[in-house]
Amino acid sequence: MDAPTVLYREKTAAHLIKVFERRRFEASYAATAAQAKQEILAMIPSPCTVFRCGSESIGQLGLWAGIGALPGVTLIDPYLPELTPEQGVALRRSGLSADVMLASSNAVTMDGRLVNLDGVGNRVAAMIFGPKKVILLVGMNKVASDLDCAMARIRQVAAPANNLRLKAFNPKHDTPCLADGRCHVCASEDKICNAWTIIEGSRVKGRIHVKLCGEDLGY
Ligand code: SF4
Repeated sequence: MDAPTVLYREKTAAHLIKVFERRRFEASYAATAAQAKQEILAMIPSPCTVFRCGSESIGQLGLWAGIGALPGVTLIDPYLPELTPEQGVALRRSGLSADVMLASSNAVTMDGRLVNLDGVGNRVAAMIFGPKKVILLVGMNKVASDLDCAMARIRQVAAPANNLRLKAFNPKHDTPCLADGRCHVCASEDKICNAWTIIEGSRVKGRIHVKLCGEDLGY
């Protein structure tokens, strides 16, 4: 990344931290993914339970293995390959009462709103209520100027890319955007775009911590 881009992202993050704090979120900035990883690991208390939610950003950093290895930390992981569908659902339910949940946000707006679109809904449900602490790792590639731009980037960039990722794991996964990378506002059984949420603020001050990262992460 060139020097002006690094500086632009630093200044944008400084603005976002102020607007997030006005909304009663905590927020901080790490210039690099490696720094973000270390700072998030340092935020996990011990003992505690941590709910793993679907997040390419977290996966890219190898954070799940790092968190699972922390002493006193139990990872509630509905993505273990050996689980039956029923066991996966049960873990998603138990994750709603975890001490900490870790995920990303599909987009953040320049006025500090957290915008997400979920397939099942456990991720956005837990962001809103349940876990005592919510940590969201957000690459600066996910910053959108306003709500319309945030929703457009999720629909036209994040969702098709996530469907392509899911297809790589499960060849049977089938949505119209896999064919051309464009959203067709489908009614597919495999649709990952079922529940929009716009989080405007936090009643419990500091419950949600947004860790911005100067490097691109996720989609
Ligand atoms: S085509 Fe369906 S699954 Fe794909 S992005 Fe649009 S609504 Fe989501």
